[in-house]
Amino acid sequence: MDRERLQSAARDNLWMHFTPHSRFETEDVPIIVRGEGAYIFDADGRRYLDGLGGLFVNQLGHGRQDLADAAAAQARELAFHPIWSYAHPRAIELAERLASLAPGSLNRVFFTSGGGEAVESAWKLAKNYFKLQGKPTKHKVISRAVAYHGTPHGALSITGLPDLKAPFEPLVPSAFRVPNTNLYRASAITAGLLDGSDPRAFGRWAADQIGLAIEYEGPDTVAAVFLEPVQNAGGCFPPPPGYWQRVREICDAYDVLLVSDEVICAYGRLGEMFGADRYGYVPDIITSAKGMTSGYAPMGAMIAKDELMEPFLREKKAFLHGYTWGGHPVGAAVALANLDAFEREGILDQVRSNEGAFRATLERLLDLPIVGDVRGAGYFYGIELVRDKTTRETLTEEECQRILYGYLSKALWDAGLYCRADDRGDPVIQLSPPLIVGQAEFDEMERILREVLTTAGAML
Ligand code: PLP
Repeated sequence: MDRERLQSAARDNLWMHFTPHSRFETEDVPIIVRGEGAYIFDADGRRYLDGLGGLFVNQLGHGRQDLADAAAAQARELAFHPIWSYAHPRAIELAERLASLAPGSLNRVFFTSGGGEAVESAWKLAKNYFKLQGKPTKHKVISRAVAYHGTPHGALSITGLPDLKAPFEPLVPSAFRVPNTNLYRASAITAGLLDGSDPRAFGRWAADQIGLAIEYEGPDTVAAVFLEPVQNAGGCFPPPPGYWQRVREICDAYDVLLVSDEVICAYGRLGEMFGADRYGYVPDIITSAKGMTSGYAPMGAMIAKDELMEPFLREKKAFLHGYTWGGHPVGAAVALANLDAFEREGILDQVRSNEGAFRATLERLLDLPIVGDVRGAGYFYGIELVRDKTTRETLTEEECQRILYGYLSKALWDAGLYCRADDRGDPVIQLSPPLIVGQAEFDEMERILREVLTTAGAML
């Protein structure tokens, strides 16, 4: 299709996700036609630095021959067979590979087509597991305010973003929220109890809120806690020191499963294969997707500890759950090739050795009055915007609309940086570039952000 036909068909036929289509009555649809390394190109041939890795997906960069070849070879050999009662080599090999990489006894890999399905599967597994263990009342789940866990009804119930949920209420009952770990907002989050100057105390407080929620709901009714290693929505909340260790203790004390939702944080994003490794805890379940294939094919996985399968074996029962595309041979072949490339190219080491420079480069932006906080880990950063740096006063609703959406998103794009301006919590810019970038791309991001944020600051 030529450019004009692409535009009109995009307007008339393509229903874009999370997108108000009315805006395309006056604007062109941005159409991306190809990618190369850390860059993407639009239909007019303009180049953009892919500062978000697509959608926290692209670890190894665009246009790779090895991953494309792995997909093509697998499609020729066996394009599809389900993993419902049958298996195929790539799903088996990938399951073994993920089990060998995952911490502790997380050896049981249940494939899905994406992250939301992995989260959905984890809640269903937790409920089913406790029923088989003779604890049928354990069914509730706990997650953090402002956290995003996906769009299926269950995953959306676990999500802590009321505006995203409201159009679809009533959702699945039994999901409860606890405070998140935005250290920059510790004072507001703890109602003035802690000011964030002692991150460990804040971490202890935040983790203890999970214990309190379990107590309030009744430990014999709570099945699982869902948390990301670094929470994305709200703008990258790394865990304060000791947070995960305390959460693990609490979950153990109440016999509640700990689900590490690593849909973004796994596969090198934080410089380790899994976020749990970075922060030194062993969850009961890991949910993952996105970076597993670097985006060359859709793929998700729930990785559960051996003990969670035991009652199914003992009772000779099936986990009555699955997806046609789960464990797709092409996705599995690409994931294996992706993990091979991780090893061959030392991707984890590269992220670990560069992350300090990435942070330092972004922290230069702290001299701008509109930049309140720069936070994150690995190749995963959030930049929180404020209207008053001293008081940490956030942007008003009107400023968010006018500056974040009316100016920033488009200005960054026009300046050649694809990233995300988001106000699901406080207003933030989110960055999650391919793991192959280095100082040149860090500088490019900082330069464009500086230019655009300087103008945004003047609009306040
Ligand atoms: N969980 C987390 C932490 C996510 O960030 C996402 C998506 O961004 C999901 C779940 C949902 O994944 P998907 O869009 O693949 O369904």
